[in-house]
Order: sequence, then C-alpha cells, then structure tokens
Amino acid sequence: MRRKVVAGNWKMNMTDPEAVELAKALRDNLRSIDNLELVVCPPFTSLSSLSGILAGSNIGLGAQNLFWESSGAYTGEVSAEMLLSVGCKYVIIGHSERRQYFGEGNQSVNRKVKTAIERGLTPIVCVGERLEQREAGKTEAVVEDHVRGAFEGLSSEEVRKAVIAYEPVWAIGTGKTATPEQANEVHLFIRELIKKLYDADLSSRMRILYGGSVKPENARSLIEQPELDGFLVGGASLKVESFAAIAKEVEGKRPE
Ligand code: PEP
Repeated sequence: MRRKVVAGNWKMNMTDPEAVELAKALRDNLRSIDNLELVVCPPFTSLSSLSGILAGSNIGLGAQNLFWESSGAYTGEVSAEMLLSVGCKYVIIGHSERRQYFGEGNQSVNRKVKTAIERGLTPIVCVGERLEQREAGKTEAVVEDHVRGAFEGLSSEEVRKAVIAYEPVWAIGTGKTATPEQANEVHLFIRELIKKLYDADLSSRMRILYGGSVKPENARSLIEQPELDGFLVGGASLKVESFAAIAKEVEGKRPE
C-alpha cells in the first residue's frame, strides 16, 4: 500500500507574512488528516518562519529547488544543508518551469536528485512532456528520458527514497487537466519503466503524483485512478479552501 502524498508548490508567491498566514490556516484546517503525507513548498524566504509554525503538525516542509554543493561561492544558490537546517524534509527537483526559464536539464536534475537523497531530503522529481511533444506522439519518450536522466547512476535503494511527479507541461497553470485515463496511462508507463530499470518491488512502492491544474472539482476522478498516489498542486495550493478540499478528496472524505 503506497501512502498518498498531497504537496503544494507555492512557486514565487507569498510574502513572508502571507505565507505565515496561509501555513497557520492549513495547519488548523488539516489537523484531522492522518492517512496522507501533506507537504507545502513555500519560497526559500519563508522556510524558516514556516518551520516553527508547522513543527509537530502533520504538514511537512519542502523547498522548490536546491544546489548540489554544500557551501561556497555560488551566489543566489541554496544547499541541502541549509534546507535541512530550517526543517525541510522534501525538495521539488526538475520542475518544468526550472527547465523552461532557468536552463535546467537532465544533468543538473540528476546532480540535485543525488544530493537530496544523499543528504536525507525526499526529492519530488518532476517529469512531463510539452504540448508539441504530446501531439507528436513523444510523451513516453520524453517521460522516459526525464526518468532515466533524473535517476542515472542511482541504486534501487536510493531511488526508493524519491517521489515522482508526472506533470504534463501543457496542463500546468493552464486550467487544462489531463483526463484521469491519460494521467493513469503515463503513470503506468513510469511504473513499468521503474520495473525495467530497477525491480518489481521498487516499481510497486514508488509514489507517482500527478500535477497539472488539479482542483477540488477534478481531484476525486483523478485520484480514483489506480496508479495515482497523490498530487503536486500549484495554483490551488495558494488558497486554504482549495488545498484542504483536495487533500480531503485524496483522504477519501468529502470536505465538510
Ligand atoms: C505545478 O506547478 O507543479 C502545478 C501543478 O501547477 P498548477 O496546479 O497550477 O497547474
């Protein structure tokens, strides 16, 4: 049985006071949830404030990126050690926006995934195709390239510490969601690929999240698919009502 995960990617949103307010509201609203892993990934500037607010709660803290070196002359970068020092347990790696705007590719994603796992952070590794790639029938090839690239050189024991997020780029922030069947098909493809690259045990344990315009209204039909183990939520994670409603759909209880 794979424990489901609902993670919020706040992206470059929320000043520190706003982040504090949202985190307090989420902590209070989601207190009763005990059969899911809940995660919020605020900007770096609020990790420290949220660490105190979420300490002892059922919501884990995650970052949106890291750099592989521990310290040094890398202006603007943040290391795994720094993230751990403010209570982070998770880190999103290889988000399509980082690939699109910051030139990230498989090689840097791989170094970041390795670093996260070595230092004891759970990487949430994003993979997914762009619209033109889907239309050209290249979805599986792109997703395979992202998965192979991210985990290159890692053992089965190491890869089992990661979570994968399948995020079709055409569904991120666009309001277009993959149909539950489209999402399930790619999740199944990823699971089979993990089996081929590693082993059946890891494949059956790997948590594969879906991300791309997840909202309270579509969460139920998506999570009913057998290969989906939760969500990475962008826009809808910025409002307590919508993030809480999604978490409650995944938990299997209707929102009050
Ligand atoms: C994301 O950026 O990870 C994401 C899934 O965004 P949204 O939910 O806004 O599509």
